[in-house]
Amino acid sequence: MDDNNHNDKSTISEISSPYDKRRSPGIKTQKPLKSPSQAKNKNTTTITTTTTMNVVEESESVPQSESESLSKRQRVEQGKEKLQIFKQGEDDDKAAFAVVTEALRTFYKYYLHFVQEEEKRCAKPEAVKNNKKTSKPKKGETLDVDSKKGARRPDLKALVKMRETNAILCPNKIGSIPGIEVGKQFFSRAEMVAVGFNSHWLNGIDCISHAGSELSRAYNLPIAVVIVMSGQYEDDLDNCDDIVYTGQGGNKLCGNRRQFRDQVLEKGNLGLKNSMDQCVPVRVVRGHECKSSYVGKVYTYDGLYKVVSYWSEKGVSGFNVFKFRLKRLEGQPLLTTDQVQFAGGQVPKSVSDLRGLVCEDISYGQEKVPIPATNLVDDPPVAPTGFTYCNSIQVSEHVELPLKALGCNCSGNCAYSKTCSCAKLNGSNLPYVLRDGGRLIEPKAVVYECGPNCGCGPGCVNRISQRGLKYRLEVYRTPKKGWAVRSWDYIPSGAPVCEYIGKLMKTDDVDAIPENNYIFDIDCLQTMKGLDGRERRLGGMSIPFVENDDDKDSAPEFCLDAGPTGNVARFINHSCQPNLFVQCVLSNHHDLKQARVVLFAADNIPPMKELSYDYAYALDSVVDPDGKIKQLLCYCGAAVCRKRLF
Ligand SMILES: [Zn+2]
Ligand SMILES: [Zn+2]
Ligand SMILES: [Zn+2]
Repeated sequence: MDDNNHNDKSTISEISSPYDKRRSPGIKTQKPLKSPSQAKNKNTTTITTTTTMNVVEESESVPQSESESLSKRQRVEQGKEKLQIFKQGEDDDKAAFAVVTEALRTFYKYYLHFVQEEEKRCAKPEAVKNNKKTSKPKKGETLDVDSKKGARRPDLKALVKMRETNAILCPNKIGSIPGIEVGKQFFSRAEMVAVGFNSHWLNGIDCISHAGSELSRAYNLPIAVVIVMSGQYEDDLDNCDDIVYTGQGGNKLCGNRRQFRDQVLEKGNLGLKNSMDQCVPVRVVRGHECKSSYVGKVYTYDGLYKVVSYWSEKGVSGFNVFKFRLKRLEGQPLLTTDQVQFAGGQVPKSVSDLRGLVCEDISYGQEKVPIPATNLVDDPPVAPTGFTYCNSIQVSEHVELPLKALGCNCSGNCAYSKTCSCAKLNGSNLPYVLRDGGRLIEPKAVVYECGPNCGCGPGCVNRISQRGLKYRLEVYRTPKKGWAVRSWDYIPSGAPVCEYIGKLMKTDDVDAIPENNYIFDIDCLQTMKGLDGRERRLGGMSIPFVENDDDKDSAPEFCLDAGPTGNVARFINHSCQPNLFVQCVLSNHHDLKQARVVLFAADNIPPMKELSYDYAYALDSVVDPDGKIKQLLCYCGAAVCRKRLF
């Protein structure tokens, strides 16, 4: 046990990370910090468009549907692709990564929307009877898409919605897909379709078979570009780098999956033969059982393979099946699928397992789940010091708290958004679904949760962020970024991770404190109004009436100071491509100026991945006491890093 430093109240004060600077809520917002030189002139903010935003726009202009009419740009790109199968430009990859992330976020927004519809239907007594069996998809995704069961699947509905809005990324790609690295994990096959990795969520062999495309001149179509190995066929053989894959057709997709007739050299089978004849690389995906995934499986992209031979033989069931031998191409990252059940990292089983443990629980029992701290960087290893852990907001003596909100008249759970007054405040719909312990459907300008005067109970769907810490978080030391936070548990997108806890202060009082690194301005109102270049994020809501509303005084009036007292949120670092987002939440009262600040998962976050959010500084907005502009380099390592934190 590395216990030497456990109770070490030594003189080593906390080494503050360059990242631990003043933060601001509101994703992608650009805001100035209030400083003496800027307070008089509100229009001095330099608005820098973030790379992320550029990329997002670009994704919208990329032709995305599977429609026959390919745009010029797409033709050109497909032509290029043939040459660039193995060499993707680094810049292209960076942009592509953001495009893929954005497509997944769109997919989950629609997915959660349809989950909510399903939950509403199930909440109605009449519907419960008809719905009993089908509320959850079965393992293995072997349901027929056209059946009524399929129609209830929110992920497939999300795909339809994405298709309608041209949000699906183009699927006709040969070789590696920009933005999707070897080892990338998908939580369903619908996800793979959303990002253009596959063109269909059910086929084991994915082919390009469009006539009329640039590809049809270059290749003899169909060609197979993806195979999914998920134990669907009884005859598959998988030796990782060397696969014998059974062709498609002649087996039952539902039930026992056994062959009941001979396979024919058509469709996917013909595609694989054509890919062999024309040296077209095939992306190989393997499916594994996984409890965290909503379909019960996780799919890992294992890289490019080439088809080296094929033959026909009598299968286990006595019918003719096609066999394709595939070999993995050289020069790719090593295969990890067969060793790793779910995530890339090794998740510790218990706190006592931890290497470099410096504190068993930095919350000293205040959180429902202990938060260990580890340090494998410093010698001797030190624990985080210089602050007192606290899991509820402290209020400065100069701050007057607003009156408690009236609340709704519901009882039990606020399931009926038509009668719940809290639901009305959120734009007539509750912002959360109950699935996976509660998920926010999409980021909003502000979320109105139920509060102390509401008739509903603590289990209400509209109190998701009030339930305290749920995931096993670990605070760990990094070489360049100070302390950081990761989760041992898988976190689904939209799940609340933690609230930013500190002392509620007036910003005027805080400006007098030099070098305070843990201040979070509550700029919910400024974000809603789009002031100072902040991105508006209204989500169909109107701005509530605010007393003494005066645009001239646009700087945030209150902030949270997590310097001397705070919770685990104070250790979460900045990233230019974060996996968390900041959400303003109102529950006790309805004063936006004192909104709660809660961090939610923006993506499905695999275990052991660093948690991060965008501190959202405007460049050149931080000024030292002499009025000089301060700069700080960003080490977030994101593909679209802005290179400077401020
Ligand atoms: Zn409620
Ligand atoms: Zn209610
Ligand atoms: Zn309520």
